[in-house]
Amino acid sequence: MTSFSSIHFESSGRKSTAASRPEVIEKLQAAVGFDNVLVEPDKVEPYGADAVKEKFPPEAVVFPSNTAEMVTVLKIANEHVFPVTARGGGVGYTGGAVPVDGGIVIGTDRMNRIIEINADDLYAICEPGVTTYALQQAAAEIGLLFAPDPASYKDSFIGGNIAENAGGMRTPKYGVTKHHVLGLEVVTATGDVIRTGGKTVKNVVGFDLTGLMCGSEGMLGIITEATLKLMPMPEATSTVRASFRSMKAACEVLTKFTPHGLLPMAMEVIDKFCVAAVEENFAFGLSKDAEALLLVAVDGSSEQVASDAKMIEQLIADNGGFEILRSRSKEEEDKLWDVRRAISPSLMKYGTLKINEDVVVPRSKVPELVAEIEEIGRRHDTFVANFGHAGDGNIHVNFVVDRDDADAVARARRCVSETFRLAVQLGGTISGEHGIGYVKAPYMSYAIDAPTLEIMKGIKQVFDPKGILNPGKMFV
Ligand SMILES: Cc1cc2nc3c(=O)[nH]c(=O)nc-3n(C[C@H](O)[C@H](O)[C@H](O)COP(=O)(O)OP(=O)(O)OC[C@H]3O[C@@H](n4cnc5c(N)ncnc54)[C@H](O)[C@@H]3O)c2cc1C
Repeated sequence: MTSFSSIHFESSGRKSTAASRPEVIEKLQAAVGFDNVLVEPDKVEPYGADAVKEKFPPEAVVFPSNTAEMVTVLKIANEHVFPVTARGGGVGYTGGAVPVDGGIVIGTDRMNRIIEINADDLYAICEPGVTTYALQQAAAEIGLLFAPDPASYKDSFIGGNIAENAGGMRTPKYGVTKHHVLGLEVVTATGDVIRTGGKTVKNVVGFDLTGLMCGSEGMLGIITEATLKLMPMPEATSTVRASFRSMKAACEVLTKFTPHGLLPMAMEVIDKFCVAAVEENFAFGLSKDAEALLLVAVDGSSEQVASDAKMIEQLIADNGGFEILRSRSKEEEDKLWDVRRAISPSLMKYGTLKINEDVVVPRSKVPELVAEIEEIGRRHDTFVANFGHAGDGNIHVNFVVDRDDADAVARARRCVSETFRLAVQLGGTISGEHGIGYVKAPYMSYAIDAPTLEIMKGIKQVFDPKGILNPGKMFV
């Protein structure tokens, strides 16, 4: 596999590869049109960062408008051997869309057509540059639901969601993105077009390449079309919010729902540090005795939702919950969720760098995970606050420090490393939804053993023999 780190040279402060050569730029311009290739430093710079906010500007940004153009671009990259990094909305949390080894970024912004929504067969076909929100809206107009709901849904693209296998709050009931992908069209590193899966929920012909592409982080091919599963839009939703005197009590109540046949769509927990932060910054009037806050949402028919929400309210009251509120309208429900939405802006008041991890453990281990993480924070004198998807054990661990304080940043990095080891020890893993990118690549071996890692590298080699697709990610 080509190592791009070995062929870099610095040019105007940027890494250069064959992609910078005038004849290559001309070929790219001929492939997608002159105006759809950016090379000026100020124009390419925004494509060198994502939500991690570290900058690795590409040599060029190329915007194909269809599969044929994508094929030509990849053939040029494969012939001249330079890195190619696909980019969706550019709101990833692990630097996946960032060209750390130089080369070009392929923006999918122009491939933003919803090709078909089929209400009879319950699928949608769309290009990768459609935002999650646009697809959800288009489906909702005819009473259908595209269930994956990353909080970044207004900015993230379907291609990015699939490549990261994004999750969201509705995961306990609806699963993650891969559970809603029926088929894909993908352009490989050599410029071949492959088709995986199809339009049916059932399909067991050959290896599950659709599943393989989900979470492949732009390292195996570039998704140019996706066939996605749709569902009937639930008629109603309702949320119950409650305070608890311990994280353990808040998490234990989640196990009381199943015996009553209840499957909430969302079960979110917020720790005492987050509660204190939102109170300090937004004054919601939450109890000072709250060691944890729980939000539980149900969906379905109006009658079912009303009765499920009531039962959840009762079970929470019977199991140590207090200050319990149940929404009876959309407006009331939105208000209950304001606390959750206020967490990130509130935490940012405690430092200029918020390292947001997304470890996941079996959900019964969440209280132990949170208690141990608090201890890690204390040991390294680092502020930490936890919240997240208690229903599926995926917790957002936030270490907050000042970006300019090198010692504090180093301590926070030690906290991250120890947190990853802890998650694995508790039977979980280092990422539930944000993926690996370059940010978590050094920690892959915590979660994946050597023989399994070799299989993954072998798969990469089959799809991308010259190593041009998103180098510097996942395996370092
Ligand atoms: C405020 C905020 C909230 C968030 N909330 C959530 C959340 O609730 N759940 C969650 O899972 N994540 C969340 N994220 C993380 C992020 O938004 C998701 O990972 C999202 O799926 C990224 O989509 P994107 O279009 O921005 O992808 P990008 O960041 O542009 O790219 C992500 C990866 O996908 C690859 N890629 C992009 N397009 C293609 C393509 N067409 N073919 C092949 N590979 C491609 C890129 O190379 C890269 O490796 C959040 C991020 C932010 C900033």
